[in-house]
Amino acid sequence: MFISKVETPSYVIDEGKLIENLRVLDRVQTEAGCKILLAQKAFSNFAVYPLIGKFLAGTTASGIYEARLGKEEMGKENHVFAPAYKDEDMAELVQICDHIIFNSVAQLMKYKNMCLDNGVEIGLRVNPEMSTQKDHAIYDPCAKGSRLGVTAAKLKEALEADSTVLDGVTGLHFHTLCEQNSDDLETTLSAFEEKFGDSLPQMKWLNMGGGHHISRADYDVDKLISLIKHVKTTYDLQVYLEPGEAIALDAGYFVTEVLDIVDNDIKTLILDGSAACHMPDVLEMPYRPPLMDSGQWGEKPFEYRLSSYTCLAGDIIGDYSFDHEIKVGDRLVFEDMAIYSMVKNNTFNGIPLPSIYLLKADGSLELIKKFGYEDFKNRLS
Ligand SMILES: *Cc1c(COP(=O)(O)O)cnc(C)c1O
Repeated sequence: MFISKVETPSYVIDEGKLIENLRVLDRVQTEAGCKILLAQKAFSNFAVYPLIGKFLAGTTASGIYEARLGKEEMGKENHVFAPAYKDEDMAELVQICDHIIFNSVAQLMKYKNMCLDNGVEIGLRVNPEMSTQKDHAIYDPCAKGSRLGVTAAKLKEALEADSTVLDGVTGLHFHTLCEQNSDDLETTLSAFEEKFGDSLPQMKWLNMGGGHHISRADYDVDKLISLIKHVKTTYDLQVYLEPGEAIALDAGYFVTEVLDIVDNDIKTLILDGSAACHMPDVLEMPYRPPLMDSGQWGEKPFEYRLSSYTCLAGDIIGDYSFDHEIKVGDRLVFEDMAIYSMVKNNTFNGIPLPSIYLLKADGSLELIKKFGYEDFKNRLS
């Protein structure tokens, strides 16, 4: 088992699980006839880009650095979407991306000719204004007043002022889901068709964004396939999906060690991992990460609050219970730690960045990255 073989804290990426996820995604590509891109924002471990590139059509980026990484390390289709672009970034993006997606009519008009001159496909992100989730408001691009995507009313207004606005635009893009199933995509898609269907005959492609939890056990893959087929046959469009989570879902662990146990009414384990530094979604989303061999508070006889060796009082990972007493030096393993973890790491409190290991499909373990004091110092002045 890898748990005793790594130093703590360490992330361990599970190649076997990654391949399992990629097979599910590949089935969607094959049966629906669509293309799936890796949204690098969720997972940018380029050591496994050659593997991901064997299955998927390419990468999508949130901006210049991810776009460069996708180009350098996967080298397949390379898309980018950002709420706005800077002139100096655009000069490079038109060289390294084949699809550039704009978030507003103003941004589209500003950079349209530059894209056309460089043979880049132009997309416009639209907002179907159909909220399908209530749990995580900060991840709802359809919330009232959202800055993400052009609304139908704004697009109509722009087209009335200038009927050539969509000339040169070959695709539309929407991204509204977060950890959701295909029934929510169905709801979103019909809102999208109702509001933007008129523009589809002039398009070549539709990108239905990310947030599709395709590799989750209860995900209705067949419904997704039929929705994609519906779009393809009704509008004759190439369909793209750009999930992040679904690619590396459950494909990583975070191994920590118990440094101390403080008992001030609640028994608190002080770990050499941190929610604030190493799993910020625990505080941001918020959620309680799955932990190997543990139960809910009250479920098993030994209960502990899991916390960190940072000075932040609220750096609490969650309350858990165990079958046996936990001792200083024990190792605890968090699960589903590949996504939105390493990409969000920071060195708050001067806490070291965890090492990154790859657990290969053949069972061997490889250290792919080790960080040190210089990584902390280099980001400061
Ligand atoms: C975040 C994001 C994704 C990926 O979302 P997941 O929830 O990780 O699948 C894809 N496209 C856009 C535009 C995004 O903002």
